[in-house]
Amino acid sequence: MGKGQTLKAVDGVSFEIKKGETFGIVGESGCGKSTAGRTIIGLYDKTDGEVIYDGKNVHKMNEKERFVFHRKMQMIFQDPYASLNPRSTNPRSTVQEIISEPMEVQGLYPNKKERRERVYQLLEDVGLNRDHANRYPHEFSGGQRQRIGIARALSLDPDFIIADEPISALDVSVQAQVVNLLKGLQKKKGLTYLFIAHDLSMVKHISDRIGVMYLGHLVELTTSDDLYSKPLHPYTQALLSAIPIPDPDVEDMRERIILKGELPSPMNPPSGCVFRTRCPHAMDACATIKPEWQEIEKNHFVACHLYNQEVIGRKDDKLAAASKENGY
Ligand code: SF4
Repeated sequence: MGKGQTLKAVDGVSFEIKKGETFGIVGESGCGKSTAGRTIIGLYDKTDGEVIYDGKNVHKMNEKERFVFHRKMQMIFQDPYASLNPRSTNPRSTVQEIISEPMEVQGLYPNKKERRERVYQLLEDVGLNRDHANRYPHEFSGGQRQRIGIARALSLDPDFIIADEPISALDVSVQAQVVNLLKGLQKKKGLTYLFIAHDLSMVKHISDRIGVMYLGHLVELTTSDDLYSKPLHPYTQALLSAIPIPDPDVEDMRERIILKGELPSPMNPPSGCVFRTRCPHAMDACATIKPEWQEIEKNHFVACHLYNQEVIGRKDDKLAAASKENGY
């Protein structure tokens, strides 16, 4: 990005995803969550670090290993229209061809009739029917198109699916249907998901554990329940305060945390804590010391000086004070 400048879209992010779970990543646009997902699957090359899948380093696989790996890990994209057919005014591929293509590339179901039956089955698995196979993407609604994208991702019978903002382009009424479909398929096929989104309420619905990202950094990671019941990082607290609660009495009592300022440029991130320019609790130490990644409670990690005894004294007092101040 220009002479001598480096943009670190993802920096120092480290987490593991357990087989069979749904791991959610949330954060504002530009926080690096999609870059993390695309680097995991190998669409982007990494400049440092490792991505280990089933004991193998994804970025060091030879061609043959990578070929097999792509059968195991698949992706669902944000914009179902663009990902199915980039030339909307000149449709080139039918749904049958779109879903068949990965199988043809991988040499699965070489018999044409079998492959067609497989496409029918996949369409039924995602709530469509066999009559849809001969149609073109532009003939479907957004929700139906995302179902086709899911069917394509499932065509190779993967173990792991990266869903990159799979519901962001859909109407609210359709979002829950697609999330429920993904949950059902996970149960039925034993899938593992990395679910990337900026909508915390939907991520909670599907995720077992959630990582919160800000400006390329992971700032908090814990179980879905803990993240919602006791968020520790000021950024997580602000994100959660923006979710309306369907109880007028509780909603009236809550105070929304409005973050001041714009998201800083990742070309020139703030020193110390990257969140300090917008953090309501920022202190002098935040400008000079990068917060450590600490496990505050079992399976609850956070990067914030408010919970570092060496930086700020007793963590329990500060934790309680910050939580109380933010209405949690
Ligand atoms: Fe806020 Fe400081 Fe914690 Fe960063 S380290 S989130 S600036 S209190």
